[in-house]
Amino acid sequence: MKRLARLLAVVPLIAAAVLSVLTVSAAPASAASCYGFGRSLSQGASGEDVRQLQIRVSGYPGYGAVLAIDGQFGAGTKAAVTRFQQAYGLGADGVAGPATFAKLSSLEDSDCTPVNFSYAELNRCNSTWSGGAVSAATAKANALVTMWKLQAMRHALGDRPITVNGGFRSYACNSAVGGAAGSRHLYGDAADLGAGGIGFCKLAQQARNHGFSEILGPGYPDHNDHAHLANRSGRLWSAPSCGI
Ligand SMILES: [Zn+2]
Repeated sequence: MKRLARLLAVVPLIAAAVLSVLTVSAAPASAASCYGFGRSLSQGASGEDVRQLQIRVSGYPGYGAVLAIDGQFGAGTKAAVTRFQQAYGLGADGVAGPATFAKLSSLEDSDCTPVNFSYAELNRCNSTWSGGAVSAATAKANALVTMWKLQAMRHALGDRPITVNGGFRSYACNSAVGGAAGSRHLYGDAADLGAGGIGFCKLAQQARNHGFSEILGPGYPDHNDHAHLANRSGRLWSAPSCGI
């Protein structure tokens, strides 16, 4: 009984400690609902915060380029940050500071997805993200980057809605829909877009500016009814009916 009493005596202490930790983590430097950036980031910086920044500006690598998400703030990251700042009318100096973090935060949901896209849209196969060519965590992380690229593309197209009809597929889902054997859908970074109000060709053409190294659309076999965007090593762009 003495032990119990002693145990009960420390409960309030533990509760107070937990509460103070919660209070600290609930008050990040910016209003970020998902990730709080604690310092300004510029060329030469490295770390997890740089990697988090790279995910969020991955849609701004420039035509035909893909931003490495490696936690190293190099020239490519500086250029991407600058393009993001220009896209939103911020001071474009390539340094991510409070104004840039506040804008990123305003574009983000509490689960770290950009406001106009969701994990559910990027996975109509299963709820676990498992059964593909990579681990569930990797597939989901790949889908997150794809969503940020789509968010950049959506903004560049005048903030018009983009329809995502599918993304990640397990091997079972991929064979059920007759997907290619090495489909990027197995890796989680592919998105199949509907025409929406924009049209397949305009989507495929615009995607060239936003970090998609794989673009397949009208004129490519089995792609007359959607625009397929993904990330692969090397470039595969083919939408002959759209001049790509
Ligand atoms: Zn596809």
